[in-house]
Amino acid sequence: MKNLADLRPCDNCDGPVGLQFYLLRWSIVVVRREAVEQMMGMSQFFGHRAPMALVENFSPAMTDAVTVAMDDPMFKNLMIEVVICHDCHNNTSIDLPRLAEKTHARRHQLDT
Ligand SMILES: [Zn+2]
Repeated sequence: MKNLADLRPCDNCDGPVGLQFYLLRWSIVVVRREAVEQMMGMSQFFGHRAPMALVENFSPAMTDAVTVAMDDPMFKNLMIEVVICHDCHNNTSIDLPRLAEKTHARRHQLDT
């Protein structure tokens, strides 16, 4: 979002965003089960006394153990991005799941 043409109304109230607004981005984070199991196994091997950083060094499956979907170009479409105007940010309780659905529906509409 760098150009004026990219601006859109507030995803919460559908009102104008004004000159200052909030952009919220979030995504699902996935932890690989294999990495967790290996780390738990190595931790047990060390008698649950070794620092996690040391245990991690002995666990080969630790590479890319945690994936933040929006940081990975392959899963970037799982990122949710909403625009919130100043009024909604300061004065309204915001229902993030509802906004995520609304934003997803809007994006899907634009894609078709
Ligand atoms: Zn608003």
